[in-house]
Amino acid sequence: MSTRADFDRYLVPTYAPADFVPVLGAGSRVWDQAGREYLDFAGGIAVNALGHCHPALVMALEEQATKIWHVSNVFTNEPALLLAKRLVDATFAERAFFCNSGAEANEAALKLARRVAHDRFGAHKHKILSAFNSFHGRTLFTVNVGGQPKYSDGFGPKPEGIAYFEYNNIESLTQLIDDDTAAVILEPIQGEGGVLPATPEFLQAARELCNKHNALLIFDEVQTGVGRTGKLFAYEHYGVVPDILSSAKSLGGGFPIGAMLTTADLAQHFGVGVHGTTYGGNALACAVAGALLDVVNSPEVLDGVIAKHQHFIKRLELINGQFGVFSAFRGMGLLIGCVLEEKYAGRAKEILDLCSKNGLMILMAGPNVIRFAPSLIISENDIDEGLARFTEALKKFLG
Ligand SMILES: *Cc1c(COP(=O)(O)O)cnc(C)c1O
Repeated sequence: MSTRADFDRYLVPTYAPADFVPVLGAGSRVWDQAGREYLDFAGGIAVNALGHCHPALVMALEEQATKIWHVSNVFTNEPALLLAKRLVDATFAERAFFCNSGAEANEAALKLARRVAHDRFGAHKHKILSAFNSFHGRTLFTVNVGGQPKYSDGFGPKPEGIAYFEYNNIESLTQLIDDDTAAVILEPIQGEGGVLPATPEFLQAARELCNKHNALLIFDEVQTGVGRTGKLFAYEHYGVVPDILSSAKSLGGGFPIGAMLTTADLAQHFGVGVHGTTYGGNALACAVAGALLDVVNSPEVLDGVIAKHQHFIKRLELINGQFGVFSAFRGMGLLIGCVLEEKYAGRAKEILDLCSKNGLMILMAGPNVIRFAPSLIISENDIDEGLARFTEALKKFLG
């Protein structure tokens, strides 16, 4: 029998997981070793887009598991070919590159942007511009592109050619961008940074500034993609089309996979041998992602996300009318941020822990924001029950 205490005994202490160990999940419910039940508003950090053990995903995984798992990219495979076609058919993109995580999808996006700039304009054009407080992953390059020094400091010399502008500040980006800029990378909604949506004017201006300076626009949709906001990808809400888009998290619904999407013209710059990864396009991962896309990319699920958002916000406003803990609710679709009132600043973790004790799994987005990223097909009944547990936790929080 394993216990939570084994975490501290055997794992590198990069995390401080909750004091219970989930063992079973079905839909938006999870059970721990002691048989206690939880409502899941965390969704594995915006990953479990169809909840736990969705029958269509279980079937895809089991079916593929008896056929072939992995062949590497020395050979291709049917699930990867089918998934690439689905993604191309459903988006602006004409080509896909598969990898295993969000950080790798961004790493590929950033390398591609630098390669394109290098091939077309020369080595001087290499600058990557990114927003303060953004998050793009934890590899040594992506963590430095992310605008949060607490994650990138303390690892020795930093890679060159990265500069930061203020999110949603057109003037700040205009000042920074120049003809040596290879790419601007943006989250349409800053997820880890506090569930902060971009303004339409800002994304539009970023597009125009990139065009003017021959820079590429990269949208990091690792958190906002695959139905999370009520469109397949968040850029569709804004009518601003990127040159490169990164996806992961919800794409596999719990099976690790990432993808970089781009145009045929740009994809040419990643010729044979220029970039690669052993697991990218793994048959099991692509089979699950293909099945997930079939379910998520439908009017029923996407419109449902919008309806569930409204339901959440209506209930949250009622709850807040009672407690006055939050100053604002932010986000789109089923990526929702509850911003703590000034007087409760820094105390999101306390609320998260109280929710665990009351049978509700939630997330934070920084110390001042409670984040919900539940299954895209969570029922209204589960939302209501989860929010009842949330209400209990807030009562305890206020003492
Ligand atoms: C989670 C996240 C990443 C990193 O994804 P990993 O799979 O953890 O590498 C990158 N960008 C955004 C916007 C994310 O939310």
